[in-house]
Amino acid sequence: MRAAVVQQFGEPLVIEDRPIPEPGPGQITVQMQASGLCHTDIHAAHGDWPVKPNPPFVPGHEGVGIVHELGAGVTSLRVGDTVAVPWLGYACGECRHCLTGWETLCTRQYNTGYSVDGCYAEYFLAEAAFAAKVPAGVNVFDAAPLTCAGVTTYKAVKVGDVRPADLVAISGVGGLGHLALQYAKIFGGTVAAIDITDEKLQLAKELGADIVIDARTEDPAAVLQAHGGADVAIGLAVDDKSFATAYAGLRRGGRLVLVALPAAGTLRIPVFDTVLNGTSVIGSIVGTRADLADVFALHALGRTRVIYETRDLGTVNESIADVLHGRAKARIVLQP
Ligand code: NAD
Ligand code: ZN
Ligand code: ZN
Repeated sequence: MRAAVVQQFGEPLVIEDRPIPEPGPGQITVQMQASGLCHTDIHAAHGDWPVKPNPPFVPGHEGVGIVHELGAGVTSLRVGDTVAVPWLGYACGECRHCLTGWETLCTRQYNTGYSVDGCYAEYFLAEAAFAAKVPAGVNVFDAAPLTCAGVTTYKAVKVGDVRPADLVAISGVGGLGHLALQYAKIFGGTVAAIDITDEKLQLAKELGADIVIDARTEDPAAVLQAHGGADVAIGLAVDDKSFATAYAGLRRGGRLVLVALPAAGTLRIPVFDTVLNGTSVIGSIVGTRADLADVFALHALGRTRVIYETRDLGTVNESIADVLHGRAKARIVLQP
């Protein structure tokens, strides 16, 4: 089978011929049909973050396909089921985080396409308990971006406690942002969408953004303050400066939700203003299996639109370059 492999950080991925992996106890092998290219995969391939994967590895954590083989003891799935395999590849199920609905914080978790091989391959392994069934009525190309971009931003909107009269700033309208915008609307918010390309600003309008801010020519903080300030700002742009701007655009009592993970990302905030304004700064990491089930259910009800283009797995390096240069649709979905 073909797999796209990171051999060395910062080098192009290599398309390799590898044996189809065999499932261990509790695992399944999935025949890939669609695999979203999340910006996290680019950070992984570049070794951008303090905790690094170990090359050689296969990235990808928006993998959707058909269950090909069951490992010993798997009863929750059948061969032929359509499943989605997210970043949270495994969590222990026993620790305080797992037991209190925060399996995404489990310190014993595995991460698909990072600490274990991921979905940029014709076949890949998953823990059956963490593979989500994709409901009939959700096509595989929509399901792939929902598996990380969707669940992550659905969770971020929940963690930001978006309420119906809130002004919600969505900073970055890429793979994550174009879905964040839609969840913020579903929760009742008025949305101000911020980006730096004409295509993404146009997309934000089409998806129902109430205010569109071009960060190349306008100061997002000033525009947000002219509207009374954002109650919630969700940081999805891979650019440190955008967090500081989003922070400065908050209303008193506002909540800044950090999601994007630029290399060596830092945010310096004034203590005095943060205290006096009662501002919250919250980190948000992906979402749980229950969140992903909600995301698929909302999509099956026709309440979200996924904007993507499909490309062959073999284009992975050009596809990464196109994401980095703003030349791709909201999401690229790789096909085997
Ligand atoms: P993406 O490249 O598809 O989207 C980023 C968007 O930000 C693009 O539309 C780009 O034009 C825009 N942008 C760049 N600079 C900007 C600026 N200064 N102001 C406004 N917009 C700007 O990336 P993505 O796949 O949506 O991922 C975004 C980030 O989120 C990545 O760092 C990724 O690793 C991270 N991520 C985090 C989680 C989590 O759980 N916290 C999950 C998935 C992805
Ligand atoms: Zn992701
Ligand atoms: Zn745990």
